[in-house]
Amino acid sequence: MRNREDYLLVAWEFIESFDTASEKEIADRLHITGATASQYITSLVNDGLMVKNGRSIELTRLGRRITAPLVRMHRISEVFAFRFLEVPWEETHSSVMELEHLFTGDRGEKLFKNLGNPESCPHGNPTDPFSPRTGISAGLANDGIYRILRITYEEDSLLKRLASVEAFPGRQVEIYRDSCVTIETQNGQLRFSPEEIQALILAR
Ligand SMILES: [Zn+2]
Repeated sequence: MRNREDYLLVAWEFIESFDTASEKEIADRLHITGATASQYITSLVNDGLMVKNGRSIELTRLGRRITAPLVRMHRISEVFAFRFLEVPWEETHSSVMELEHLFTGDRGEKLFKNLGNPESCPHGNPTDPFSPRTGISAGLANDGIYRILRITYEEDSLLKRLASVEAFPGRQVEIYRDSCVTIETQNGQLRFSPEEIQALILAR
């Protein structure tokens, strides 16, 4: 059973990664049926947290204000899981789906302080969800050498593929483009469609 927080977090993640979210994407990401997602999203629209624009779903101002602390706690919980529970990098996103709900408000801020005020989660996403966006998407980047800033779409199979060549934030990566995008690290090469790798954000 998914709760309101899960829907809001996933909508935020899609919008941050791909500028848009749809009911189908949210349903697939939460492993629920389209009908269940549709019904729940309608209630979030009625509560003034989301708006539907054709097939695209957006968060309202109120929706963003309510979701930002959840995003922050998700990212702080990931740092905790990675450092203290030794959860592998590619699994921290899914492993904290339960945990993050325990660290709300004051508890969460104490955890943040005791983790040493981490600026970002293990995937490079800022613990201040309103930090300005920087960098360029690997889906659009020209050939060249870059540093990995963040992976905005924290989806298990994408993270697993990136982990297989140690394409972690802070690491250097070389990009080559043909019909696909090849990313190369010291540990190997991976090929993606430009859409698949859109959520890998790079800096020069
Ligand atoms: Zn993360």
